Amino acid sequence: EVVKHSFHSPNSARKILVAENDTKKSVDGILKDLDIKGSIDYGVTAISLGSRDFGGLYSEKPLAVISPAGADDVGQVIRHALQSPTLTVAARGNGHSVNGQAMAHLGLVIDMKSMADNKKIDVNVNYMYVDVGGGTLWGDVLKHCVSEYGLAPKSWTDYLDLTVGGTLSNAGVSGQAFRFGPQTSSVTELEVVTGNGEKIVCSNSQNSELFFSVLGGLGQFGIITRARVLLQPAPDMVRWIRVVYSEFEDFTHDAELLITSQETFNYVEGFVFVNSDDPVTGWPSVPLNSNQSFDPTLLPKKTGPVLYYLELVLHYNNHDDPSTLNMMVEKLLGKLKYLEHFRFETNLTYMDFLLRVDHVEEAARGSGIWATPHPWLNMFISKKDIDAFNRIVLQNILKSGVNGPILTYPLLRSKWDNRSSVVLPQDEIFYLVALLRFTHTHPKESEIKQMVAQNQEVVQTCIKNGFDFKLYFPHYESTVEWKRHFGDQWERFVDRKRQFDPKAILAPGQKIFTRNH
Ligand code: FAD
Repeated sequence: EVVKHSFHSPNSARKILVAENDTKKSVDGILKDLDIKGSIDYGVTAISLGSRDFGGLYSEKPLAVISPAGADDVGQVIRHALQSPTLTVAARGNGHSVNGQAMAHLGLVIDMKSMADNKKIDVNVNYMYVDVGGGTLWGDVLKHCVSEYGLAPKSWTDYLDLTVGGTLSNAGVSGQAFRFGPQTSSVTELEVVTGNGEKIVCSNSQNSELFFSVLGGLGQFGIITRARVLLQPAPDMVRWIRVVYSEFEDFTHDAELLITSQETFNYVEGFVFVNSDDPVTGWPSVPLNSNQSFDPTLLPKKTGPVLYYLELVLHYNNHDDPSTLNMMVEKLLGKLKYLEHFRFETNLTYMDFLLRVDHVEEAARGSGIWATPHPWLNMFISKKDIDAFNRIVLQNILKSGVNGPILTYPLLRSKWDNRSSVVLPQDEIFYLVALLRFTHTHPKESEIKQMVAQNQEVVQTCIKNGFDFKLYFPHYESTVEWKRHFGDQWERFVDRKRQFDPKAILAPGQKIFTRNH
C-alpha cells in the first residue's frame, strides 16, 4: 500500500471523519485541563508536520502536536492520555522514519526536537560524557562537543540531522560501529518517561530492565528525555579514502579483515555501485574530489553489472608528522586487494567528514528530491548468506541500482549488548545492507510502487532462500510478522511492554501493539 491515506474509499473516508469527530470531542475534554509549560498546537501546520515523515509513504493525522518544555511535560501528556480510552502518544524525533513509525493516528505527537530542554548540552570533562536532551540533533551534539571541548561521541550515524532519542530507539550505526558498537552501546544512562507516565533514571545498574528495554526499543517502552553519551578526544582531521573492487569476495575479505584487526582504520564502510556512467549510481559517484576521475577503461574485462568500494577513514591531528600518517595509510592499504588505479582520497576536518551528508541533502533539496517519497530498505544479514545475497539480489534484482546509495558493510555482533531490545542475525559477523532510494523530481505513483515492490521482492527472496536476516527499522503490519522478526525474543519484548506501557499508549506508528483500556 503506497501513500496509505489515498486508498480510502469515499465511504470509509466518511466513517473515519465521524470517528475522528467523536474522538476529538471526547479528547477535547481531556486535553482542556492538560497543564504544561510547553505548548499544544492544533493548527494546520503542526498537524501537517506530525503527519509527515522522510519516507513519504504514510500519512496519519494526529489530534495535536505538543512542544514540551521538558520531561515533566512529557509525563503530563502521557498521564493525560492514560485517562482516555483511546489516546496514543508518539514521540517524534526529526521524523526521519520511512514508514510512519513516529505518527499517531488521532493521537498526540510530541515534537521532541522542539523540547526546550534540548538547549542544555552538558559536557562532563572529568568523566568524559555528555548529557543531552532526547530531541537534540546529533549534529548539534557534535558541534558543541568538538568546538567547546575538543571531544566527541564515539559512534555515529552517516547523517546527523537525526535525534538522540530517535536513533537510540533503533540502534544508530555507521563506519565506527565495528569498533564501538552502535550508538546504543555508548550510552550509560537515560532519563525516560514510561508508558505509565513515570519519569525514571535508568542505567546498567539502576532500573536496568527499563534501560535495556528502551535501547533499540522502537519507542515502545518510554520516551527518552535525556541520554548520557560517552565521549573521546576528537581528532582535528581525517584522511578519507575509497578503494574499488570488482570481485565481491575480495571486497568482503578485506572489509572483514579490517573490522577484525587490532591495527585498523577508524571508520570502515562499504558501498555497491553500478558499472555504468550514471552520475548518481555509477562510476562518477565514487571519486571524492572534482579533480579525480574514474577511468572505466582500466577495469578488468570480466567486471560484472555492479562494483563495490570500501570507504575508509584514518584520524589524525594537525601536529602529526605527515610522513607518519602516510606510512600508516600505506601499511593498512597494503594488506588490501583492491583494483590498481582505483584509489581515491582526500583530507578534511573531522567535523566536515561527519557532516558530509549535509551536501547531499542540500543538493537533493535543491532538486526537490529530499521532499519526495523515500522507500528505503535497511537490513542486517549474516555473513554466511552474504555471498548468495550478492549473487541473487545485488548482481541481479538490483543490478541497475536504486537511484541512490547502496551500502553494505560488516559489523560485529559482540559489540552489541544482547540485553537491549534490538534483534540481530546469528553470525558474529553480519552485514548492514541499506537501499537508500530516491525518486525522480516529480515521481509518478507507479515509480514509487515499483520501488516498494522491489523492496518486497528483496525481502521475499531472503525468506525464500532461508537467509538469516533481520530488518533494521523494521516495518510490519501483522503480529505474525512481528513475532517472526523478534523470534525467541518476542516473549521478552511483550513482557517489557506489559511492564512499561501496559495500555500500549506509545509509538502506535510501529504497529506492534494495539491501544487497550
Ligand atoms: P523519528 O523518525 O522521529 O522516530 C523514530 C522512532 O523512534 C519512532 O517510533 C518514534 O516514536 C521513536 N522516538 C523518537 N524520539 C524518541 C524518544 N526521544 N524516545 C523514545 N522514542 C522516540 N540510521 C542509522 O542507524 N545510520 C545511518 O547512517 C542513518 N542515516 C540516515 C540518513 C538519512 C538521510 C535518514 C533520513 C535516516 C538515516 N538513518 C540512519 C535512520 C535514522 O536512524 C532513523 O530515521 C531514526 O528513526 C532516527 O530518526 P529521528 O530522530 O527523526 O526519529
